[in-house]
Amino acid sequence: MRPRLTRRHFALFVLGALLVWFLAPPANPEPRDGRVLPGGVVVAWSPAYRVSFFGIERLHPFDIAKLDTIAANLEREGLVHDGDFWIPAAIGDDALAAVHDPAYLASLHDTPVLSQALEVPVPDVFPRSVVESRVRHAFRKAVGGTEIAVRGALAHGIGINVGGGFHHARPALGHGFCIYNDVAWGLHVARQEGFTGRVLIFDTDAHQGDGNHAAFANDPSVTTISLHGRRLFPHPRVPGDVDVELDPGITDAGYLEQLDAALSLAFEQPFDLVVHVAGSDVLSDDPLADLALTPAGLVERDARVFRAARSRGIPYVHLLAGGYGPSSASAQSASLASILRAAR
Ligand SMILES: [Zn+2]
Repeated sequence: MRPRLTRRHFALFVLGALLVWFLAPPANPEPRDGRVLPGGVVVAWSPAYRVSFFGIERLHPFDIAKLDTIAANLEREGLVHDGDFWIPAAIGDDALAAVHDPAYLASLHDTPVLSQALEVPVPDVFPRSVVESRVRHAFRKAVGGTEIAVRGALAHGIGINVGGGFHHARPALGHGFCIYNDVAWGLHVARQEGFTGRVLIFDTDAHQGDGNHAAFANDPSVTTISLHGRRLFPHPRVPGDVDVELDPGITDAGYLEQLDAALSLAFEQPFDLVVHVAGSDVLSDDPLADLALTPAGLVERDARVFRAARSRGIPYVHLLAGGYGPSSASAQSASLASILRAAR
């Protein structure tokens, strides 16, 4: 007798397919070199940047799938084609020990410690290998992306990582959704490869870049400048070379005025590399910040930092950092599109 396909069978099939889709990890393509785009631009990105933990990651307000959206938008605009993206390797603990305390790195293999740093309730019931492949791996790949962006900027002029900017990760502390400091790693690799120049880390994420401030506090070759909301995480501050405390509710005009002042001050000194930590959480609809920029204001912010570096012939690295609101993906797509067009 032939089994009859009932509505129940069909419902079970659909449920099973949905479950498979839901549980499937993101694609993890092999590392590869992409193409140097017109104007000397290297763009790093991998779908493996997306944290995927059986949907639990959705409890964090950071829509990590926004990076996929931004990459797709750049492709749709014809600015970056699929084979153009440089796909990074994941950076392991042995390598990261050059910029992080090894005991801290080991502590991240404890799910509760990792959970606290990421502010996501990762249940302590999964084998370590699952947490590695679903969570830490995504961050390791994005750290590799910043290495590519730094190397790309030094070789060709401009390096973009469609992700990264984990500016709260200190040498021995992870918090604020940041566990590995990608800027510290990227600069470490550049130094190993012979780069001896002066570096400006210019941080316009809405939150203070305490991780970079801490990582480079004793490095006179690196200047750290952060513009951030005065009431926002983290408190207490780790002082940087320059900290600009912005009032809640600041809008485009007031913000851009403070930005210009900070850029003028910064470029009183010469630099050989600028790293822009360009979070989109300055936007008015961001749920984790209290600044009030429009998408056009964000695009203008990024254009001004980009121009300040490139008009002086200084290699420029762009990292996406934080940004959690509904207009984040479209605003950052527009900003990267404007940089890619300006580079041409
Ligand atoms: Zn932020």
